[in-house]
Amino acid sequence: MFDSGELQAMSDEVLVDALRRAHGAAAFAQAAEVRAVRELYRRRRGEKRHGGAAAGEFAAAEATAAVYVGEQVAAALIDVGLGLDELPQTAAAFESGLIDLARAQVIVAAVRDLPVEVLAEVERTLVETAARSTPARLRQTARRWVTKIDPGGEQRRREQRELDRDVRISALQDGVALFDGVLPAMGAQVVANRLREMGSRVCAEDPRSVAQRRADALVALAQGDEMLACACGRAECPAGAAPEGVPRALVQVGVSVEALAGLTEDPGLLAGYGPVDAALVRRIAEQARLQVVSERGDSGDEARRAIEGQCRFPGCTVAAAECVMEAVDSRGENPRGGHGRGGAGRSASHHDSAVVGSTVALCSHHHRLRSSAGGWRVRRLDGDRLSWSSPTGDRHTTVREGARYLFPHIDSEAPESRIDTAAMVSPTPQPGLDLTYPIAAHRLTHRQLAGSTPEDAATEGPVAW
Ligand SMILES: [Zn+2]
Ligand SMILES: [Zn+2]
Repeated sequence: MFDSGELQAMSDEVLVDALRRAHGAAAFAQAAEVRAVRELYRRRRGEKRHGGAAAGEFAAAEATAAVYVGEQVAAALIDVGLGLDELPQTAAAFESGLIDLARAQVIVAAVRDLPVEVLAEVERTLVETAARSTPARLRQTARRWVTKIDPGGEQRRREQRELDRDVRISALQDGVALFDGVLPAMGAQVVANRLREMGSRVCAEDPRSVAQRRADALVALAQGDEMLACACGRAECPAGAAPEGVPRALVQVGVSVEALAGLTEDPGLLAGYGPVDAALVRRIAEQARLQVVSERGDSGDEARRAIEGQCRFPGCTVAAAECVMEAVDSRGENPRGGHGRGGAGRSASHHDSAVVGSTVALCSHHHRLRSSAGGWRVRRLDGDRLSWSSPTGDRHTTVREGARYLFPHIDSEAPESRIDTAAMVSPTPQPGLDLTYPIAAHRLTHRQLAGSTPEDAATEGPVAW
């Protein structure tokens, strides 16, 4: 495509365009790989000797031997290929390089439980969104819409999936062990927020990274300690004084008043996690402190964070509760230090109160990126939309994610369809996750592909394709 000499000679704009073309070409090649492995599967299925589950295993084993991916990865690629058979718009976008494997995989996984009668409408909006989203953002939007379309089915699937909860520890080499598992979303946020909170209460001289403190906090919790001991080693360390009592871990959920009252089934946003069904929100709310957020109002820092929902940088999914709030106006200034330069003689605080909702959430990483001389410019287009322009002039628009949960009527791109698949949810447990290769965590839609245990292999039944 281009060698490093050609790349070095390019202007920034041409270089970014080259990056975009290379990514599209990689997606084109990924689509070809998925089609090839799916065709291998079709052939093995057609042969009498490999009926049922065995066809998936044989095809996956052959793909593994041919290109040296893990068998789970090969099975996931076949599964994506089978999913794309039902999703012609997604397949076309993937094959033209408009979306890559990661985003095609998100769409296949998001719609796998929806019946065909609503697929076409949902798929169209998802493909449009995918073309301008990162996989993480796309997954959140897709989960929000699927939960809106099929709240009963989502609730049922969550209840089934919660049965798979598990925590595992396995030895790695070099004296460490892998600690992983599956927790209900709410419980996971309680753990995550508690570990973060414990890790944040050491003094500034503590030599450990945030990640190391999180790990140490988990062990401290298991030992029955309420605090993580500071590791600065100073006798005069101020972090030693334990506060009275330990605060409960704070978990935040944004939801519409109507869904909270049971009048609608629009999903809520569990901060740091993503969309959750209204039934779960109502259960959480039984023990929650409620704060009303008005759609018009400029009602304080917490309310603004709830409306923002997440960091406003394109593609970022850091919860607004973890962000700094900073002013952005409609002129596209690039202020340093987190506040407007106060053009036209106005102070930052005056400016804040003069324009309703003029502060936006930015995680500390993107706050630094905006404040540095990196050349990112941001300006407010209206009450909802921010326009970002990259150093090379690419434009990206981001919206208030939290507001789409608090005020569902503004989620205007969401599909209109409503169905209920609760009765169709199968209680079949899912195969375990392998966190070592991202695509292997793909939850197989076509469960016959995972027939790698004797029990599974024994249950060959009629299949749908
Ligand atoms: Zn200390
Ligand atoms: Zn961010």
